[in-house]
Amino acid sequence: MQLAVFGGTFDPPHNGHLALCLYARELLPINRLVISVSNNPLKESPQSTDRDRVRMAGLLAETVNRTGAIAEVCSWEVDRAYPSYTIDLVTYLEEIYSSPNITLLIGEDNYRNFRHWKSWEELIRRCNIVVFARESAAEEASLEKLHEQKFHRINFNLPLSSTDIRDRIASGEDCSQQVPSSIWRYIVEEGLYRSTEQ
Ligand code: ATP
Repeated sequence: MQLAVFGGTFDPPHNGHLALCLYARELLPINRLVISVSNNPLKESPQSTDRDRVRMAGLLAETVNRTGAIAEVCSWEVDRAYPSYTIDLVTYLEEIYSSPNITLLIGEDNYRNFRHWKSWEELIRRCNIVVFARESAAEEASLEKLHEQKFHRINFNLPLSSTDIRDRIASGEDCSQQVPSSIWRYIVEEGLYRSTEQ
């Protein structure tokens, strides 16, 4: 099995995440995609609850699977009482799926911190890493050169981010074009990200 892991806070999942999953399914040599909901210690705390984010990630997986079953959601990281690191997630998933050589799908902004990740050198040894470029960042290019067979870079300049979507919803904007329709329905029904003044 060729397993890929796409981790994120997914607060909320948006069409950039969807496009990335579809790209990975169609163009990378993978046959299972685990969407792992996490609490990134290098980012601000998420605005919505773990439960809401896991549910919305489930709706993202359903949207992906509508055109070809590949995705599932993993809540292992948020279910743990203590912070988890990608290396721990990789160890867990390798065991569960009996799948060595996991492919990590990482957006550029996350990847810029890669050398601060726990056991990053071990991650390079154990995983293939696909970086989805969000904006130009040459900082880690040397790392990629050094491990040419392990890194793969995809130019993926989709100007969408969860932060932007949260801000726009808080100011009363309609973001139904920026997120999958089932996720937009969920956000509206649960009243997520609305400013308290509305
Ligand atoms: P935030 O704005 O809150 O930082 P985000 O849009 O980056 O959120 P995350 O859930 O943190 O969403 O993203 C999960 C992963 O998807 C990260 O690796 C991130 O870099 C990547 N990603 C998100 N949006 C895009 C995009 N438009 N293009 C490429 N990668 C993306």
